[in-house]
Amino acid sequence: MSRKSGIHIACLNYFDHLGLINNRIMRQKRAVLSVSGGIDSATLVYKAVKEGYETRALTFIYGQKHKKEIEYAKRICTGLNVIHKVIDLSPLKEILSGSALTDSSVEVPEVPETSEYYETLSTTIVPNRNSIFLSIAIGYAVSIKADHVFFGAHLSDRGVYPDCRREFVEAFERAERLANDNKQLVVAAPFIDMYKSQIIKLGTELGVPYKDTWSCYKGGKVHCGVCSSCRERKRGFEEAGAFDPTEYER
Ligand SMILES: [Zn+2]
Repeated sequence: MSRKSGIHIACLNYFDHLGLINNRIMRQKRAVLSVSGGIDSATLVYKAVKEGYETRALTFIYGQKHKKEIEYAKRICTGLNVIHKVIDLSPLKEILSGSALTDSSVEVPEVPETSEYYETLSTTIVPNRNSIFLSIAIGYAVSIKADHVFFGAHLSDRGVYPDCRREFVEAFERAERLANDNKQLVVAAPFIDMYKSQIIKLGTELGVPYKDTWSCYKGGKVHCGVCSSCRERKRGFEEAGAFDPTEYER
């Protein structure tokens, strides 16, 4: 091999290498996640941005009884300058029935302070909700060449919501890698072993403005304070020993 062609090959290798690194940085640094307006996804979007991901957020309208959480999801994303898209899936309400969150014939239950909030959470299950949302998030990620889709499932969800369990997340990642013929695709649920209070502690360190989040299943002027989600929120701040900026009705 002549010296000239050796240098030529070395240069090509060098530029190939640079291209690969660049490509990796660009691909690794882009993430999609769903922001619901609540504490977990707000913390997750802050974490993703802090870790250097170019983050895109989706909020889904799926026939919830109120739109309050969408307004709060917008606030969180605007505060971070994150591109945020609201996807209207409200016609799904017609076929995904039986949940207190979407079905007007099912009331959002009140939970006594002493009871475990998850006892009544089962009424809030929307069939296959996370699976549907994640599929759309992955479709978006693939379209914009993002390899990461983050999912805000946490430990307390595990007992009630089957699609918030580690087995589901791992199986889903495998299925989506096959569906998109992309072994780089990552579906990550970094809070899956964390309690709400631990998420709040992390979010407090990250500077998440929790006043700009909404948890209540009812769409009142302020948080009702007695639905299972409000109970969990109150308890989370208490256990975290963090300041709770939420205004509760009760
Ligand atoms: Zn409430």
